[in-house]
Amino acid sequence: MKYIFKKLTEAKEKGLYRGDFKYLDSCQAPRVEIDGREIILLGSNNYLGLCNDARLKEAAVQAVNQYGVGAGGSRLTTGSYVLHRKLEEKIAEFKGTESSIVFNTGYMANVGVISTLCDRKWVIFCDKYNHASIIDGCLLSRARLIRYKHCDMKDLERKIREYKGENNLIVTDGVFSMEGDLAPLSDIIKLAKEHEMLIMVDDAHGMGVLGENGSGTVSYFNANEDVDIQMGTLSKAAASVGGYVAGKKYLIDYLRNFSRSFIFSTALPPASIAVSLESIDIIRNDVNRRNYLKELTQWFKEELEFAGFHVTDTITPIIPLIVGDAGKTVEFFKNLLEDGIYVPAIRPPAVPKGSSRLRISLMATHTYNDLQYVLDKVKLHGKRLGVIEG
Ligand code: PMP
Repeated sequence: MKYIFKKLTEAKEKGLYRGDFKYLDSCQAPRVEIDGREIILLGSNNYLGLCNDARLKEAAVQAVNQYGVGAGGSRLTTGSYVLHRKLEEKIAEFKGTESSIVFNTGYMANVGVISTLCDRKWVIFCDKYNHASIIDGCLLSRARLIRYKHCDMKDLERKIREYKGENNLIVTDGVFSMEGDLAPLSDIIKLAKEHEMLIMVDDAHGMGVLGENGSGTVSYFNANEDVDIQMGTLSKAAASVGGYVAGKKYLIDYLRNFSRSFIFSTALPPASIAVSLESIDIIRNDVNRRNYLKELTQWFKEELEFAGFHVTDTITPIIPLIVGDAGKTVEFFKNLLEDGIYVPAIRPPAVPKGSSRLRISLMATHTYNDLQYVLDKVKLHGKRLGVIEG
C-alpha cells in the first residue's frame, strides 16, 4: 500500500499524474462536446475523420441486425464469423501479403506476434521510440532485447555487429506515434538482408495516410517483398477496433495456432469487423480525403515552424509541438482547453524525459478556419509561456 501512495505522490510531484480524464459526450470529430462545452479536438488518431461516417455507421447497424452484438467465444471456438474471414482476406489483399490474422487490438497483435515468434534464442533489435506494445511483446518473448537510437542506422549496424545471434528480428514503427516521422525502411532492409534478419513493421499510424491506396508505410517504401511481418491497427484511420498481422501463410498459420493473445480472448464483435471491412474500401478509394489531409498537414506544420515552434520532422498528420518541461506542457494544455482547444499533453514515460509535448494530430475533416483559430491561440500561449519568443 505504502508503495502505491509513494508512486502516486512522486507522479504528482513530477507533473506526471493522470487524474483528470476528459470525457467526450459526442462523437470523435473536429468539434466535440466535453463538460457541456464545444471543443476543437486536435489529438485524435481518427486521421481520415471516419469515426462518424454514415457508411461505417450503416455497416455496423446492418451487422448488429444480422449477427447481434457479442461474438460469444474465442476465434478458436465459437467466435469466428464469416465476417472475420472476409476481413482477414481483405487485409492480406490490401497489404499485398499471402495471409493475415486479426487480433482484438493492435496492442494484442504486437504482444501476440513477437512473443509467439521469438524466444530466449532470439535477439530483437528495436528502435528506442517503438510503441510500448512492441516493447511488451519483446519482454514477454524473453528474447535478448537490443534497443538502438531512434532511426539511427549507424547505431543499429554497430549493435547488429556486436549482438547478432542465431535468430534475429529488427522491429520498427513505420510512423512513430509520438514523433510522426518515418522509419528509414530502405536502410533497415539493406542491413537486414546483409545480416539475414527478419523485419517487422508496426504501421498503426501509416495505414490510410501513406502509400499506394493508403495501404501504409511499407507500400510508401515499395517494400512489400522485403518486410516479413506487417502489423497494424484498425483503431486509427480505419475508425474501428482491432489489430492485424499480415505476412506469409505459414507465419499466420503459426500465430493462429500458438499466439496466446489471439487464442485466449473473445473475438471482436461482428459490428466492429463490418466497420473495418467497409473502412478499408473507403481508404482505398477516397484519394481526395487523403490528399486534403496531406495539404492541411503541410500548411499547419509550416505555420507552426514559421512562428518559431520546434516541431518534429513529420510528413504525417502527427505534428508534435515540443515544449520540453512536463509542467509547462500541462499548463499549455490547460490554457488551450480554456480557449476551447483539446490537444493531449504527452509526458514521460510515453516520451523521453525533457521532451514533453503537445501531440497535435489532424483529421481530414478539420477546416482551415478552425485550424487558423488554433494557430492564433497556440502562438498566444506559446509566447506567454516562453515556448517561443514574444
Ligand atoms: N502500435 C502503435 C505504433 C500505436 O500507436 C498503437 C496505439 N496507440 C498500437 C500499436 C496499439 O494499437 P491499439 O490501439 O489498436 O491497441
